[in-house]
Amino acid sequence: MARYIGPVCRLCRTEQKKLFLKGDRCKSDKCPMNKKRLPPGKAPKSRMGKKSEYATQLREKQTLKRAYGLQETQFRNAFEKALAMPGKTGENLFILLERRLDNVVYRLHLATSRAQARQLVTHGHIAINGKRVNIASYLVKAGEQVSVIGEAKKFDFIKNALQEVGKSGTMPWIEVNPDEMVGRFVAYPHRQDITDMADIREQLIVELYSK
Ligand code: SF4
Repeated sequence: MARYIGPVCRLCRTEQKKLFLKGDRCKSDKCPMNKKRLPPGKAPKSRMGKKSEYATQLREKQTLKRAYGLQETQFRNAFEKALAMPGKTGENLFILLERRLDNVVYRLHLATSRAQARQLVTHGHIAINGKRVNIASYLVKAGEQVSVIGEAKKFDFIKNALQEVGKSGTMPWIEVNPDEMVGRFVAYPHRQDITDMADIREQLIVELYSK
């Protein structure tokens, strides 16, 4: 499946939001979103004026899709699945995105970005309940254990990434044992608990795909 290989910081600039696609760099002063801030009232001409309803919905969809590192077809499939589930489609969509194995590995702080987490999974370094799973889109079930296996237990970048557990903790639906490089997806998240996506208006995405 075709994957975006251009500069990822450009995606943040397009969405005017930090999407945290580059690991540690995103939290440092090197993040270009922390620089070049235009003073209030000095927005570029292209971003001035009222956006159409369609443009607003499209940007919301693109932001969420890019934050989770999905291609259009993958995102659309997740939406269709969410639509078929009981309950609110927007909330279901978030649950499905959070359940993806690459995302869970990222949330466990075994990687500093979802892209790095995806690599760990596809290269066979991750197990679910002790069994190797190399499919990034695998949907982790509540209660399942996610662990680093084999040679990867020696990888310095995983040890470094896990230091974040002590600094900022984990999301409320995740448990992690940094010493063992093991975590558990305790329960499906509630929408209000996904705090780093608090400003996403998922209803706009539902409206976009319902046209
Ligand atoms: Fe986005 Fe990270 Fe690049 Fe900053 S460093 S613009 S958050 S990808």
